[in-house]
Amino acid sequence: MTLMITAQTQSLHSIEKLKELSGQSVKVCMQCATCTGMCPMAQEMDFSPRMVMHMAQFGLIEKLAGINTYWKCASCHACSVKCPRGIDIAKVMEALRQQALRKSHNYIEPSELSPELIAEMPQIALVAAFRKFTS
Ligand code: SF4
Ligand code: SF4
Repeated sequence: MTLMITAQTQSLHSIEKLKELSGQSVKVCMQCATCTGMCPMAQEMDFSPRMVMHMAQFGLIEKLAGINTYWKCASCHACSVKCPRGIDIAKVMEALRQQALRKSHNYIEPSELSPELIAEMPQIALVAAFRKFTS
């Protein structure tokens, strides 16, 4: 019983934290999957945007910790403009990235990039990647 209450409290805290960071209420999502249909990156994602929203609704943020969905999100807002519930899903993805980065879960490690890759990549792309993928 105590464990169940603790889990429920953690879920509510996760949902509130996500709302605070994104300004969006994932609870109003009706699971229509329009976001997934609009997403140009969906094929590259472990979980579709709809699935991420579903897990976020239940406060299962920890279960989203190891997936690539919010890292692969290109912040194009195609999902956000079509969501029938008016959820800015791109902001939710950004909030999930922020939560991971605050726990020092970098998606890329600059020190592990090869000198050859660094020499080949446009500098502006490197800077943009470091801003998005590192804490
Ligand atoms: S488009 Fe909006 S309502 Fe539909 S699944 Fe995605 S987030 Fe939920
Ligand atoms: S903002 Fe992200 S999740 Fe939404 S359609 Fe674009 S790439 Fe997909």
